[in-house]
Amino acid sequence: MSGEVRQIVCPHCNSVNRVPKEKDARGAKCGRCHQPIFNGRPVAASAESFATHIRHNDIPVVVDFWAQWCGPCKAMAPTYERVASELEPEIRFLKVDTEAGPELAARYNIRSIPTLILFQNGAEVARQAGAMDAASLRSWLRQHAAASFSALQAG
Ligand SMILES: [Zn+2]
Repeated sequence: MSGEVRQIVCPHCNSVNRVPKEKDARGAKCGRCHQPIFNGRPVAASAESFATHIRHNDIPVVVDFWAQWCGPCKAMAPTYERVASELEPEIRFLKVDTEAGPELAARYNIRSIPTLILFQNGAEVARQAGAMDAASLRSWLRQHAAASFSALQAG
């Protein structure tokens, strides 16, 4: 009735979709490439797609800065995937390989990995260095994305 929409970036083709707030975004398909906008998994981001995701998503975006050689990063990967499947479509989960995208790691001054950064409307709202277990990750995300959650529910 309100006709309000959320902008959500497609993880496959990076086009910006307008999804009605009252619709369950979990079942939404991309208007351009027709693939699901959410598939319950973190999305590997390049420098280019990263910029699109953090600027054009109306939902919070969390980014895992990681690398192949990093043991704690690999240890946390299954946890990150599990929490992504639980918290999509309220939050978009990205992964940035700091070896493939060193310019992003430099821009955000990543000193150790894994580092997680939560963005809202392109701005960093929270940062956590070091691996987290599932319970800590969930509560960290809920705490910092709380304003967004309530805004979505109010909408
Ligand atoms: Zn698409």
